[in-house]
Amino acid sequence: MLDGKIAIRSLLPEELDEELRAMGEPAYRGRQVFSWLSRGVSGFDEMTNLPRRLREKLAGRYYLAAPEVLRKQNSLRDGTVKYLWGLADGNAVETVVMRYHHGNTVCISTQVGCRQGCAFCASTIGGLVRQLEPYEMLEEVMFSELDSGLKISNIVLMGIGEPLDNFDNVIKFLKLVNCPQGMDIGMRHISLSTCGLTERFDKLGELNLQLTLSVSLHAPDDETRSRIMPANRGRGVAQLMDACERYFETTGRRISFEYAMIDGVNDSDEQARLLAAHARRIGAHVNLIPLNHVEESRFMPTPPERIRRFRELLERAGVNVTVRRSLGGDIDASCGQLRKKAAAGRA
Ligand code: SAH
Repeated sequence: MLDGKIAIRSLLPEELDEELRAMGEPAYRGRQVFSWLSRGVSGFDEMTNLPRRLREKLAGRYYLAAPEVLRKQNSLRDGTVKYLWGLADGNAVETVVMRYHHGNTVCISTQVGCRQGCAFCASTIGGLVRQLEPYEMLEEVMFSELDSGLKISNIVLMGIGEPLDNFDNVIKFLKLVNCPQGMDIGMRHISLSTCGLTERFDKLGELNLQLTLSVSLHAPDDETRSRIMPANRGRGVAQLMDACERYFETTGRRISFEYAMIDGVNDSDEQARLLAAHARRIGAHVNLIPLNHVEESRFMPTPPERIRRFRELLERAGVNVTVRRSLGGDIDASCGQLRKKAAAGRA
């Protein structure tokens, strides 16, 4: 897809230094090139303070381009912007920029499609196509900022895909976007959301990245959770809670439970009490989200009065809880509404 070239925006400054040194270049070149890359150049010719022969050499060895905006939608209601980016191999992914009082937040995809099969989510309908590379995730952030003119201060890995199913590429992306010489987005401004691939929690915890881990819980009991989230089968809620507890102990970072409220499925009083017990044990914050309706799904959102009662039950049990405001509803940009779009023109 890249004609055998290395995607240069996937390289960390120290890797770039190494590559350029091996090409016989002076020590400062790596930094120069990284700085251009971070400014969103789309070709080596734009690196005007580099000798021409070096630019040509780089172009022969490395891949560098800007992703194409296949489609851009602006929400008239709340200023949310949704992008459909065309990737080098003809695939496409969606990115959403949301405007909050505490700063602009970009919600990025981590895979083309998803194989987790959650029953209420549109992103998984076509299955997994391929992993996203570190540079592709970085470019979602970089070009959303450049195109929208909105300075990005927070990142959530809550778009299409399961970040822990693309572990190494996601970690590399986090290091890239965190680089002080690059986009310099602090780990404490990044949330990684997972459906609960517990076998990766310890590895993530050991990296001690100081990001926020969001666990898509959506049900406190195995019967319900396994029904709506296949990732629970063979793992189970008890194993998930153990993994969360270890993660909290290792990193000292409070975990957040995502809980999409589905009418008659996960919103009973008994489920509120069980959820409260889990949250108290882990010291987790609970984020209630009214389910966003997805056309292909029979699930409906819990009515507002029921959400209020559920919230009260949690609060009374001493749990820290918020109800998330949904943005971008008028442009299908809300949680669970992003879907894989195969190619240009199909959007
Ligand atoms: N795979 C990761 C991240 C992507 S989904 C994960 O599972 O966490 C981001 C969040 O949106 C998850 O909490 C997911 O469960 C939630 N979600 C999916 N479909 C939804 C829907 N229809 N309504 C509300 N939230 C939904």
